[in-house]
Amino acid sequence: MSTVTPMMAQYLDIKAQYPDALLFYRMGDFYEMFFDDAVNAAEALDIALTKRGKHDGNDIPMCGVPVHAAEGYLLTLIRKGFRVAVGEQLESPAEAKKRGSKSVVKRDVVRLVTPGTITEDSLLEARRHNFLTAYCEMRDQSALAWADISTGAFHVMPVASVRVSPELARLAPSELIVPDGPALDQLRTIAEDHQIPVTPLAKSSFDSTAAEKRICDLFKVSTLESYGSFNRAEISAMGAVIDYLDITQKGKLPLLQPPQQEAEDRVVQIDAATRRSLELTRSLTGGRGGSLLAVVDRTVTPAGGRLLEQRLSSPSRNLDVIRSRLTALDFVVEQTQLAQSLRAALRKTPDLDRALSRLALDRGGPRDLAAVRNTLIQSEAISDLCDRADMPPLLQQALSGLTGFDDLLPLLDAALIAEPPLLARDGGFIAEGYDSELDEARTLRDEGRSVIAALQKKYSDHTGINSLKIKHNNVLGYFIETTATHAEKMLSAPLSETYIHRQTTANQVRFTTVELSEIEARILNAGNLALEIEKRLYTRLSDAILANAALLNAAARGLAELDLVTALADLALGENWSCPTVDTSREFSISGGRHPVVEQALRQQGGSSFVANDCDLTADTGAAIWLLTGPNMAGKSTFLRQNALIAILAQMGSYVPADSAHIGLISQLFSRVGASDDLARGRSTFMVEMVETAAILNQADDRALVILDEIGRGTATYDGLSIAWATLEHLHEVNRARALFATHYHELTQLAGKLPGVDNATVSVKEWEGEVIFLHEVKKGAADRSYGVQVAQLAGLPGSVVARARDVLDMLEEGRRSGAGKIPIDDLPLFAAAPPPQPAAPVGPSPVEMLLDDIHPDDLSPREALEALYRLKEAA
Ligand code: ADP
Repeated sequence: MSTVTPMMAQYLDIKAQYPDALLFYRMGDFYEMFFDDAVNAAEALDIALTKRGKHDGNDIPMCGVPVHAAEGYLLTLIRKGFRVAVGEQLESPAEAKKRGSKSVVKRDVVRLVTPGTITEDSLLEARRHNFLTAYCEMRDQSALAWADISTGAFHVMPVASVRVSPELARLAPSELIVPDGPALDQLRTIAEDHQIPVTPLAKSSFDSTAAEKRICDLFKVSTLESYGSFNRAEISAMGAVIDYLDITQKGKLPLLQPPQQEAEDRVVQIDAATRRSLELTRSLTGGRGGSLLAVVDRTVTPAGGRLLEQRLSSPSRNLDVIRSRLTALDFVVEQTQLAQSLRAALRKTPDLDRALSRLALDRGGPRDLAAVRNTLIQSEAISDLCDRADMPPLLQQALSGLTGFDDLLPLLDAALIAEPPLLARDGGFIAEGYDSELDEARTLRDEGRSVIAALQKKYSDHTGINSLKIKHNNVLGYFIETTATHAEKMLSAPLSETYIHRQTTANQVRFTTVELSEIEARILNAGNLALEIEKRLYTRLSDAILANAALLNAAARGLAELDLVTALADLALGENWSCPTVDTSREFSISGGRHPVVEQALRQQGGSSFVANDCDLTADTGAAIWLLTGPNMAGKSTFLRQNALIAILAQMGSYVPADSAHIGLISQLFSRVGASDDLARGRSTFMVEMVETAAILNQADDRALVILDEIGRGTATYDGLSIAWATLEHLHEVNRARALFATHYHELTQLAGKLPGVDNATVSVKEWEGEVIFLHEVKKGAADRSYGVQVAQLAGLPGSVVARARDVLDMLEEGRRSGAGKIPIDDLPLFAAAPPPQPAAPVGPSPVEMLLDDIHPDDLSPREALEALYRLKEAA
C-alpha cells in the first residue's frame, strides 16, 4: 500500500541514519530538505518553505539551497547550532538509468558538517583555531584531547576533573565530544557556561584498546610510546577525536600531526571567570574587539594570529621557554631593518596549514597548490634574508623549518600558472610547457576554436548570408544559425545538400554540416583530454605536497613563530614597551605600568593620556598585598587589571607596557573583578562573588597572583566588610599569594598596620570647588574619603538628590566622629530635601483665593482688615 516514491524511500533511509543532523539531499543543482528538517532550516535560513508530494496523506514540507551557494547557508546553520549531513549523488542520472528505468540515483552522506570539523575558509575564522575537543573520564583519570583539522594540530593532556572548566575556557573549542552516559549532564552544564556545543558519542568511540589501535593506524606506528607515555584516559580521548573525525569525514581522515602531550603545570592556570574579566581574547561583550588580543595583535599572517591567541591564552610557567622567547624578541627589536623585511615577506605568505588540510581531505583546489608554492617562495626569501649563525636558538629553529623543499618548490613552480582558478574541475591551472601531452591537447582544442571562426566566414561567403553565425549550446553543440527570412534559401537546393536542418525556433533556423560535426568532435575530444590530463596532474602535485606534509607543517610553524616575534617587536617599539625580567624569585615590581587597552581607548578618544603607575608586591622583602582604596572611577580596576595583564604578557614571552618590570614566575592567576548576576543558573551577584572567592582562597598558592575588586559589595555593609576582612587575612596568612585588593571599606585600611605583608595604596583625586578631579595616580597610603557623592553628581544625579546625600553624609560622619557608633537616622528629618518643582495642578481658585480676590486693601479700614483676616483664616 506504500505511497512512498522510490526517491522518498531513499531519503527516509538515509535520514534515519542521521537523526541529529539536517540532511542536505542533493537533487541536481540543489540541496533539498524535507519534513522537519525543511521547517527548521527554512526558519533558520529565512528561505521559502514549499511542498513536494505527499507522505502518509500529508503534504511534505520542503526547502532547498543552490549547491553553488551552499557554503554560506552551511555557515549560518552551523552558527545556529545545527549539524548538517551532506548527501551527494554518487552517480549520474544516466548511470542510474542504465541500472533500470526506475532506478533512483545512488546517494549517500559524504560528510557530516559540525562546528568542530569544518575546513572551508569561508566557514572558519582565519585568526582563530577551530578545536574539536574530547573529554574522557575513567576511574581516577581524566583527560582532554583536542585537534584542529583545519591546521592539523593535535594535543592531549591529563586534566583533573575540577580543572575541566578552566581548561575548556582556555582552549575555547568549537565542539566538545563526551561519552554518552551519567557524566553527560554535568559536562553539558560546564560547556554551556562557555557556549561550547556538546556532542555525545557512543561509549565504544572512547574504548581505550580500540583507541590505541586507531591512533597507531593513523600515524602508522606500532606503539604510542614514540609520542610519550599516555594514561588510559588520554588514549581514550585521542581515540574518540579520531573516531569522530572518521564518522564525520566518512573515512577521509585529515592530516593530523602526531599528538603533542601537554602537562597541566606547563601554563599559568587561569580560571574561566578570570579569563573573562581580564578580557584576554574576547571582550565582555563577546567579540574580539576591545580585548587584549585585539590591541596587541600586529601579526600579518593568519597562522601568526592564531599562535598569538594561543600564547596569550596560555602564558608559560617554564622559565626556559619564556626566556628563549624573550631572547629572540630582544634580537628582533634590535634589528629593525631585518624585522621590516621579514614582515614584508610574511605579508605575502598564504595560510599554509589550512591549504594543506584541505588538500589532505580532498577538498582542495588549484589555489591550495598555489598557496603551498607561494609559501615556499616566501620561505626561501625569508631564509635568504637571515644569517642564521648569529641568531638566538628560537629563531634558528624557526628558520630551519623553512628549508628542505629543493624538489617540491621547483616542481610546483614549473607546473602551476601564477594565479590559478579555485576549482580543479574546469582546468586551466597547469602552466604551459610543463606537460607536452597537455600542451598538444590544448593546441588542438584552441585551434578548433579558431577553425570555427574561419568556418563561419566561409559559410557566410558560400551562402551569401552575411548575418549567418556559428553558435554553441549544451543541447545542440555547435550549429549554424540564420534568421527565418534567409532560411528558405538554405533549405532548398543546392545549399540544402551541404546544410543539414536541425531545428526551427520562433525566429531562427539552425543547421549543421558534416564538416562542422567533425571539427566539433575534435574540439570536444581535445578539450576533454586536456581536462583529464590536468586532473591527473592535480592529483600528482597534491600527492607530492602531502608526501612532504611533515616538513611543510614545520615550515608553517616556523613562519608563524617568525610572524609572532616580529609582530611583538613592532608592538614593543611602536608602543614603547620594555623587556620584563622574569625569574624564580617572588618579585613583582613594575614601574610606570600601563593598561594597554585603556591606554589605546584614551588615545583614540583623543582626550587625556594614560597615567602610568608603579606596583610593588615583592613578597619576600616588602608587602605582598596592596590594599587599594579610592573613589569610584579613580582607576582602581584599571590598575588591578593592568598588573595582571603585564604578568600575562611577560610570561607569554612579550615585552610589557611599563618602564620596567620584574616578575617572579606566577603559576596561577585569579581575578574577581566586578560582579554580574548569573540568573540563568539561579545565582545572585553575591553568590557568584562568593563562589569565585571561595575558589581563589581554596586554590591559590604562594606563586599565585590574586586580584580582588570590591569583595563583599553584594551584601549588607557589615557582612561585606567582615567577609572582605577575613578574605584579606586568609590571603595573607594562608595562601601567601601576591595580591591586589581594591575595596571601598575604609575600615580595612587599619589592617595594614597589623599585617606585615599588607600595604595601603590609594588612587589619588583632587577636590576643587566641590567637584572631584581624578588624577589616576596610585600612591602609598589610604584614601581620606570616598567622594561617592561627588561622583554621583558627575554622573548627573538630580541636584536635589546630591544635596540631600551631602546632608545625610555629614550627619553620618558626625555620628561616627562623636563615637556614637549608631547611625543617627532619627536626627535626619525624613524627605527634607527640597522637592523638585511640580507642575501646577489644573484646578480652579481655592476659597481663600476667591476671598483674596474680593479684598481691596486701599478701601479697608483697620477694623475691616482685621475682620477680613479672620474670614481668610476660617476659609483656609
Ligand atoms: P574604578 O575601578 O576606580 O571605579 P576604573 O578603573 O574603572 O575606576 O577607571 C575609570 C576610568 O578612568 C577608566 O575607564 C579610564 O577611562 C580612566 N582611567 C583609569 N585609570 C587611568 C589612568 N591610569 N590614566 C588615565 N585614565 C585612567
